[in-house]
Amino acid sequence: VATRAITCPFCALACDDLGAAEAGVDTRGCAKAAAGFARDAGRTEHRVRGKPVPLADAVAAAAALLSQARLPLITGAGADLAGIRALIALADRAGAVIDPWQSMVLRRNFAVTQESGALTATFGEVANRADAILLLGGDPAPDYPRVFERLVDNGTPLFRSTPPSLAYLGPAAAAPRRTMAAAIHLDSNRLLDGVAALHAALAGRLPRDADIAGVPAAAFVELGERLSAAHYGAILWDVRNLADDGKAVVATVLRILRHLNRRTRAVGLPLAGSDNALGFVQALLWQTGWPAQVSLAGGAPEHDPWRFDAARLIAAGEIDALLWVAGLSHSPPPATMAPTVALLAPDIALTGEAAVEIRVGVPGLDHPGTLVRADAVVALPLDAVRKTALPSVAAVAQAIVESLGARA
Ligand code: SF4
Repeated sequence: VATRAITCPFCALACDDLGAAEAGVDTRGCAKAAAGFARDAGRTEHRVRGKPVPLADAVAAAAALLSQARLPLITGAGADLAGIRALIALADRAGAVIDPWQSMVLRRNFAVTQESGALTATFGEVANRADAILLLGGDPAPDYPRVFERLVDNGTPLFRSTPPSLAYLGPAAAAPRRTMAAAIHLDSNRLLDGVAALHAALAGRLPRDADIAGVPAAAFVELGERLSAAHYGAILWDVRNLADDGKAVVATVLRILRHLNRRTRAVGLPLAGSDNALGFVQALLWQTGWPAQVSLAGGAPEHDPWRFDAARLIAAGEIDALLWVAGLSHSPPPATMAPTVALLAPDIALTGEAAVEIRVGVPGLDHPGTLVRADAVVALPLDAVRKTALPSVAAVAQAIVESLGARA
């Protein structure tokens, strides 16, 4: 029986070695992918005010709601690139704010890139070259189940002869279940102190008798020596493991990398962007010039990380219409007084009633598409592995744009 290679859309590792056959999907042992490809397809009815309606009526109701709004917001997660591009076009047409959900978490990484640059690498570079890897802040495996298989346990590396040595800096309770050559345990709210101490140790400015969050200075000196001795060091973190001071942590990591690159090679690999949130950021960047928190209400893109943060706008009650997109994620729309148009995958249960509920297919499961991988260097094609009549986010967003045009 023929098996075709497919890409998994269920985390930002975007593993492209899965196999689809008549009997189902071989998920290479990944439980998260197995759960994703087994998602329920049961909810297919579109609704307006709770009553089932044809798709065209739901689209018209969504357009009417958006056209009457003074400040609509488009947010959420989980569309393929075509869907995100159509949402940006819709935001432009409707004069809306558009922002990936939880963009303040993603911002811990990209704000540093905006202000100071970055020293990053691809998955392939880390898998083939890294001889020392420092894991920061917690175990990335719960969010990215095959991360060690993909980046550490490469059995046929091109440019190193032994597996990379692993080190860890972060809370003991969140430490990866792997053998570590070195480990420094400190609370997540002291992680900034930890990376600052590592930077000071590398620069020869850490007093020998210093105590950092209960850890003696010698541990940081030893960790710095480890990274300095590597031919190709990598510092890897899951952005969701960083606390609210995550931006300062990432900025300090960049200083560490700059210091290391005076004598050897060292890179940072931030993991973020599941549910194609990174695709959302990339599409916004290339279409508006800004990565997130963008308003298209004034006829030209305007960026403000505070004013146009989706979560803040909802919490402050500043919007009068919400278009929530969850084609990949499992998330129902957040609570808001604003009337909501919800574009939802067929397995998402609504806790309340949305003004307009439109069921959409899951990219990579119900329809083809494209998804940006966490290292942001490649957009991978997605296939469909089951049959559905549900429209894609792109088709629905385009239909709403057309309906808005017809209304005008
Ligand atoms: S690690 Fe992520 S992308 Fe890879 S198979 Fe598992 S869920 Fe899919």
